[in-house]
Amino acid sequence: MIRWTGIAASAGIAIGPVWVFQKAVVEIPCFQIKDVEAELKRLNSAIEQTRLQIQTQQAQAVDMVGVEEAAIFAAHLSFLDDPELIDLIQNTIRDENVNSESALKKATQIFADLLTNLDSEYFRERAQDVLAVGDQIVNNLLGDTGKSASGPLQPSIIIAEDLTPADTIQFDQNNLLGLVTLHGGPTSHTAILSRGLGIPAAVSVPLDLNAVVNGMTAILDGIKGELILLPDVSILAEAESSREAFLEKAHLEKVAAHELTRTLDGVPVEVVANIGSPEDAFKAVEYGAEGVGLFRTEFLYMSRDALMSESQQIKVYSNVFATIGSRPIVVRTIDIGGDKKVAYLGLEREENPFLGWRGIRMISERSDLLIGQFRALLRAGVNTDLRIMLPMVSNLNEIVQGRDLLNQAIHELEAEGLAYAKNVQFGIMVEVPSIALVADHAAKLVDFFSIGTNDLTQYSLAVDRGNTRVAPLASPFHPAVLQLIAKTIRAAHAAGKWVGMCGEFASDTLAAPLLLGLGLDEFSVSSSVIPSLKQTLRRCNVVNCRPLAEECLQLGRTEDVVARLKEFAAAGLISPES
Ligand code: PEP
Ligand code: MG
Repeated sequence: MIRWTGIAASAGIAIGPVWVFQKAVVEIPCFQIKDVEAELKRLNSAIEQTRLQIQTQQAQAVDMVGVEEAAIFAAHLSFLDDPELIDLIQNTIRDENVNSESALKKATQIFADLLTNLDSEYFRERAQDVLAVGDQIVNNLLGDTGKSASGPLQPSIIIAEDLTPADTIQFDQNNLLGLVTLHGGPTSHTAILSRGLGIPAAVSVPLDLNAVVNGMTAILDGIKGELILLPDVSILAEAESSREAFLEKAHLEKVAAHELTRTLDGVPVEVVANIGSPEDAFKAVEYGAEGVGLFRTEFLYMSRDALMSESQQIKVYSNVFATIGSRPIVVRTIDIGGDKKVAYLGLEREENPFLGWRGIRMISERSDLLIGQFRALLRAGVNTDLRIMLPMVSNLNEIVQGRDLLNQAIHELEAEGLAYAKNVQFGIMVEVPSIALVADHAAKLVDFFSIGTNDLTQYSLAVDRGNTRVAPLASPFHPAVLQLIAKTIRAAHAAGKWVGMCGEFASDTLAAPLLLGLGLDEFSVSSSVIPSLKQTLRRCNVVNCRPLAEECLQLGRTEDVVARLKEFAAAGLISPES
């Protein structure tokens, strides 16, 4: 029996045979070229081929693990558009007259070294991403699409040095008992995707691959981050009973997730799901979502190569609505631009896409897109609790114009004698600081707000959410972000409107008592987070959370807010798990 301990990455216990994933080592040809322009063309077409592959893998991952977890593929895509990286590769070809493969190898290694030298786990992960994308382009240049990569033929614990997101999603899920990697941290793709798939995983396990033979029995404990090879009979029996206890607890949590949520002192809180596809809607219901707080519709546009017709849209929306049934569903109109590109909409390349022609700003030139979407939603939404919201709103005019277009769609359907959803609530995302600061005016124009902390954080702290180098600055616990959240909630409540949160901050259990204290009505999170978030909320007393929130609002530093919240949890003010 051999036991190795690494980092716990995804909870659960797997028992079964191991299977070692070995990546084929690719020989990189290195030679001088004569025609630089032809070589740059060759490079460019391999990059475009890689883009298509990653987009396909992203769509596949959306089906398997949901939109939130599949977002890691966006990080890979972003490298293909990184001007510094692309310039570095192209300049190496030009300056050294070398072939694309060797230029890629050299440039991606320089880029990865820069990230690794920043000395943080997060950047080390991103360094691996650059190398993985570089390898994928090289494979395409060499005519190897990587399709031949295989997986185990029976349900197994997969062991690998490291796994790219593309490696992980190509395994047959039926044969995937758990994942163990020699490298990676708790925020690695392996960790994120395993949690999305609901399988145990351990990363940075210092195991000796020479000691592992395919088919050997092993125990993977994703709670302790442990791998035990060839366990004794008694250890095996112990693991079996821990596995059963874990499954029972997860089952009970999942069952309890189907109950409504009230805090210890009886305050009702809504816990709903973020979704982006018909598959996500099933997952939301399975995990006990009381509705949908954010349906990101842009993914439906991104996975196609032409604009959907009204009837195609109706079909997709009806499909989602049928799954969600009578529960409330907040649909966000397309939020294209920023990091979400749709080739067929002819978006121009912008210097600062996050500050550019994005979300509701399209209304100025493409009101047809919005009208078309409103019509389809209204027609599909008959007999549903439909709520529609606009993304990226930064001023009151956009709310008025958006509402006018919704009314225009209603009038058109009325005139055409078509059935459509009545009493639809109309709201906006509060994700731009300017609208949070005039939230008292905005609240009079809408039925609800949904706070998008992902963008609210990036815009209020001036931190590009896709820029890995400044990512550690992007904390929604920053007191400036908290002030904007507090102002938004107060303004909504003063006008008698409800307010939800659909940014990632809503799923942070450390933030839960703070958000309850600020008076948040609805938490919208990834489906898999719902059972544990509901448990946390049920263990809070709002009477204790209110003074906590007031205290946090007086603080000036992110670190102080985080420390205060940890102290609150440690002091037992969130009641212990029963
Ligand atoms: C947000 O900005 O917080 C949000 C939920 O929207 P997205 O992540 O889709 O930009
Ligand atoms: Mg946003």
